[in-house]
Amino acid sequence: MSDIIHLLPDSVANQIAAGEVIQRPASVLKELVENSIDAGATFIQIVIKDAGRTLIQVVDNGKGMSETDARMAFERHATSKIQSADDLFALRTMGFRGEALASIAAVAQVELRTKRAGDELGVLVEVAGTRVFKQEAVQCDSGTSFQVKNLFFNVPARRRFLKSDNVEKSHILTEFYRIALVNSSVSFSLFDNDEEIFNLPASNNKIRIESIFGKNAKKRWQQQLLTIETNTNMVSIHGYVGKPEYAQKSANQYFFVNGRYMRHPYFHKAVLLAYNQMIQASESPNYFIYFEVDPQTIDINIHPTKTEIKFENEQAIWSILSAAIKEALGKFNIIPSIDFDQEGAVDMPTRMPVENVRPPQTNFNPNYNPFTTGYKRPTLDWEDLYGGFEKKDEPIASSIDWESDIDMPVSATITQSEQQQTIEQTDSRTDNFQYKNRYILTGIKSGLLMIDQQRAHTRILFDFFLTQIEKSQGITQQVLFPEVLELSADDDLFFEQILPDLQRVGFDFDSAGTNSYRVKGIPAQIEKSSVIDLLLDMLDKAKTTAQDPTASLHESISLTLAEASSLKAGQRLSSEEMSDLIDRLFACANYNFTPDGKKIVTTFTQEELEKRF
Ligand code: ADP
Ligand code: MG
Repeated sequence: MSDIIHLLPDSVANQIAAGEVIQRPASVLKELVENSIDAGATFIQIVIKDAGRTLIQVVDNGKGMSETDARMAFERHATSKIQSADDLFALRTMGFRGEALASIAAVAQVELRTKRAGDELGVLVEVAGTRVFKQEAVQCDSGTSFQVKNLFFNVPARRRFLKSDNVEKSHILTEFYRIALVNSSVSFSLFDNDEEIFNLPASNNKIRIESIFGKNAKKRWQQQLLTIETNTNMVSIHGYVGKPEYAQKSANQYFFVNGRYMRHPYFHKAVLLAYNQMIQASESPNYFIYFEVDPQTIDINIHPTKTEIKFENEQAIWSILSAAIKEALGKFNIIPSIDFDQEGAVDMPTRMPVENVRPPQTNFNPNYNPFTTGYKRPTLDWEDLYGGFEKKDEPIASSIDWESDIDMPVSATITQSEQQQTIEQTDSRTDNFQYKNRYILTGIKSGLLMIDQQRAHTRILFDFFLTQIEKSQGITQQVLFPEVLELSADDDLFFEQILPDLQRVGFDFDSAGTNSYRVKGIPAQIEKSSVIDLLLDMLDKAKTTAQDPTASLHESISLTLAEASSLKAGQRLSSEEMSDLIDRLFACANYNFTPDGKKIVTTFTQEELEKRF
């Protein structure tokens, strides 16, 4: 067997976009694992220590290198993957620049052991800061093992530039996912400080996706993935898109082309547009989309990090992609079909006579008070807050007690007996009225206030939880049958960041093994059901928050808790509950808007009301 690595002539080297230098442990991992893939490995083992600062090791069972190649591999522009500039347009390999090993060896201590299947002995090469320290024959398995130790040992400034272990690890996982998701026929194992955090057997793309992201909720992932599949002369597209109801703020979104991860903002738009009107503006669908095209029709050379790729037929592929996703969503009846054809349909009266309406069953509990577990704020004379609206010397206002006489629009579905009930519960102190079990109307001196009950309660609880987090005052209610929260490795990194805050607000956890927690206690104020979903939601939002330097993690947690436990529109309130809600709302510093900026209170001034008569 002959040697295969050669130096690229300058004319070719100069045509290649300058490779990115090694920035952090994750870049080393990416380059080494890509080399293993290019070497035809079917098994790749990765070991990192101290988030890659001390050690990044990649062991593969690929084709290995000859003695000369093992030495040559560390030269700049030394590659076995391309020969001429033309080859750049027919790339089938991940690497082609011949720069990675040279760049790594320049800033770390590297130990390479490699052997080709047909050779009796392998070779050991030790390089540090571009100097070769050792080269000798060794006994080793076929394949290649790279150990990269003490990254940036000779560039202290770069070493200091590295972020916390958690951040570096999450970069490592990002690179790992990008490779593992598109090489599902290769088995991977990943050790972090001696603990195996991934063991992925060879499988298919779908199972790979589920085993990476569905670690904590496999079912959730199995249920949500819709298959897309389309084959044309220009492109074949296959993969999976998430059902709209599983959209999330920080969704998992992956494009791959010819086995390589890519970013593609233009195609991303195509995906989002296919989901138009199906998901909230703030959320986005999960997707894993694999493109196969003739390598001649793409240019992966345009961007040094190799994640942005130019397609020759971008517009056409955009349309094909868009159609494929719409078809997948449509097939599963997710796009509501509107059928205007009324022929032969029974002509239903749009309004039923009132006397035929059966009284709706209401399950409200007159003793329900959503605030009994919270602490009582001193009641403010909140009407004074609106005193500014009051018009002096207004003859009508002083002569007519119109407040008690307002003719409220009564929903047709409220029956006589229900109205009776409402009236019976109204105490003499207030004349609050709940409209459609959604808004509270209340008269004040200067007019009429309309309060969105759900938003009001969200604001009250948000302020409450925020104080608890900041003062560590959370009250815990013990859970009788603790549920277990299982997280993926990178979710766990984030979870650890919010864990102390969750404990401050009243959560109580036990460890339940690797990346898993037993939820022993929850804040006294929250509903017991779906605690795991709530925690996952909180994690999801915390991740988004972490990306925004202006956002506060405490606020994000408080808001998620408040939204999850606030009373909902449609919930019937007694008069006492309404007064309580109003008092508590106006005790909040910002009673006009929810923490995420939605209006809580609207005022109809007396003047406006009078104009209507
Ligand atoms: P590139 O991947 O762009 O060719 P690198 O600097 O990453 O450049 O690697 C240089 C060469 O070393 C590769 O072209 C390949 O021949 C060889 N090589 C690197 N890693 C491995 C590996 N794990 N197994 C076999 N050969 C390898
Ligand atoms: Mg390479």
